[in-house]
Amino acid sequence: MMLRRTADGWDIYAPAKLNFFLEVLGKREDGYHEIVTVVCPIGLYDCLRFRTDPGGHIGLTVRCAAGWKAVQATDVPLGRDNLVVRAVELLRQRSGVRSGARIDLYKRIPIAAGLGGGSSDAAATLLAANKAWALGWPQEKLMELAAELGSDVPCFIAGGPVVCRGRGEQVEPIGRWPPMWCVVAKPPAGLSTAAVYQACRPADVPNSPKALMEAAGRGDLAAVGRLLWNRLQESAMKLSPWIERLSACFSQLGCLGHAMTGSGTGYFGVFRHARNARFAARRLSSCGVEVFVVQSCR
Ligand code: ATP
Repeated sequence: MMLRRTADGWDIYAPAKLNFFLEVLGKREDGYHEIVTVVCPIGLYDCLRFRTDPGGHIGLTVRCAAGWKAVQATDVPLGRDNLVVRAVELLRQRSGVRSGARIDLYKRIPIAAGLGGGSSDAAATLLAANKAWALGWPQEKLMELAAELGSDVPCFIAGGPVVCRGRGEQVEPIGRWPPMWCVVAKPPAGLSTAAVYQACRPADVPNSPKALMEAAGRGDLAAVGRLLWNRLQESAMKLSPWIERLSACFSQLGCLGHAMTGSGTGYFGVFRHARNARFAARRLSSCGVEVFVVQSCR
């Protein structure tokens, strides 16, 4: 998350994320699934322009990056259905401030792709409002509010690579993360997170993220690639033909490893060098998917 002061407010860059590991441990009584996941932000950003409104009004405009097929303005909800509005209203209510906010959101992160764009926007809004309204809330307090907004929101408040447990809201930073290039593919059709979880059978013998985190810690990128894992991939495969198609495509591209991110349909491969990632991206773009070449953020 990058915050920058402007003449009349704050600009904040909200990154997308990739799940390098995701295991589903079981279904909870509250309806959520118990998971363990390793998440890392990547260099693909939405931008929020946050200005205080002394009149107390809360307003949001959404613009989408021109020429990007994967992000359509009509797919982004406005008003209270947008996580940005929910975040700013929640913080205003809990903090008791009277100021409002004018927020311009520039979307580049594809929607419903498992890239966490909405959650990242919500986290960015909390961080920007905390600054703009001079609240001085510590990170732990913002994290609690973030968890009320969504399971994926707290990991973006923490920033950097993290391991998340519970329904995803218990966040622990990962110290060391090797530099890497990722090629991210976004098929034209997305999947609903709820539908993918519903179709997923929790693991009888769950995988642990320990080996992947140790590989990341010693900078062993080849092992990180080998150890990518997403339990939801099997259920997403039943719901979208794109997952199997992309798995087959990435297998031909010489990457260190590949997997679906979150609940799909976004899919990614890991590369050591930028030139190999760009070459793979050129080959993939003829498959009818939108392709991004990004670095993971430490
Ligand atoms: P998840 O966090 O469930 O993995 P995702 O990464 O697959 O989600 P998002 O782009 O976050 O997908 O969007 C999921 C849904 O959230 C969208 O279909 C949209 O209706 C809603 N939404 C609310 N606020 C936003 C926002 N600011 N940007 C994008 N989508 C939003």
